[in-house]
Amino acid sequence: MPDKAIFLDRDDTIIEDTGYINSVEQVKLIPAAAQALVELRKLGYKLIVVSNQSGIARGLFTEQTLSQIHERLKQLLAEHNAYLDRIYYCPYLPDGAVGKYRKDSDWRKPKPGMLLAAAKEMKINLADSWMIGNSYIDVAAGKAAGCRTILIKSNIKPPVKNQDDPDPDFEAINMREAVNVVKREIARKPAPLPQLHMIQAETPPQQAEPQIKPEQVQQEEKPQMPNEEIPTEQPQEPKTVNQPVSEQSKTEQLLEEIKFILKSQRRSEQFTEFSAMKLFAGVLQVLVMFCLVVAIWYRLSPAGKDNAVFTALGFAITLQLIALTLYIMHKDR
Ligand SMILES: [Mg+2]
Repeated sequence: MPDKAIFLDRDDTIIEDTGYINSVEQVKLIPAAAQALVELRKLGYKLIVVSNQSGIARGLFTEQTLSQIHERLKQLLAEHNAYLDRIYYCPYLPDGAVGKYRKDSDWRKPKPGMLLAAAKEMKINLADSWMIGNSYIDVAAGKAAGCRTILIKSNIKPPVKNQDDPDPDFEAINMREAVNVVKREIARKPAPLPQLHMIQAETPPQQAEPQIKPEQVQQEEKPQMPNEEIPTEQPQEPKTVNQPVSEQSKTEQLLEEIKFILKSQRRSEQFTEFSAMKLFAGVLQVLVMFCLVVAIWYRLSPAGKDNAVFTALGFAITLQLIALTLYIMHKDR
């Protein structure tokens, strides 16, 4: 039985993107990303990174450096008990500065080459797999491969959408929410979708061995050296899903997606308002305490100014009511 996988973009999905990461010191995990990987693995998915690394073709760093960066990434993840099954990367760029890597490649996202190669090598059922990334090129690659897609749409660095970019199946604010999307979809559709890319199922894999591998892949078990040769056999063209879906189920799915997007947006807005509202209520609470102290002080003073006591108590009660109102408003949102 084929495996299912979560294909993951690397930069700004698992680690912070500081531009072209070219040293081990720049590798910093995104908070909660490791925990998300742990949860995804528990759901039975293989975890495969697919990353464009044109910095190699641009001459910004070497494959050896990239290998060290990925070792550091694995080390950081292991500290949180998170593990990757494999890391695929594409070092090529059509107008790269380094001749060895200057070429167009089917592995470069938005093309789906890395996902298709992984499906073939690791016996992955792409229709039952997901592509998660923070860019529309991740979405395009995932869709072209036949996976469902989640776009990480952070408020800090929102992805830029071009006219021809396909829409993701789902959006999430961060990896944690992406995991929730996957969990929810598993709960909603316990049975896997019809298999789309059982690439190696009917072809004899052994006989295909002599053919040139199109790109290199960094694997945990057997790192491969770069292959300069132009691929003679291109990965399969993306196929379309030919599953009979009733109009009713389509509508239901659409409504679910709309509901989810609205929920996500509202949650994001809530977070922004939460801080201001709670801060204001907190300030009021401090003022309430101050008024109470003043009231007690006047009450205990030898002069015994009752008017001042009642005034201070009046302020305390009023401010407390406002603070409570703010708390209730926040809770009801
Ligand atoms: Mg990215």
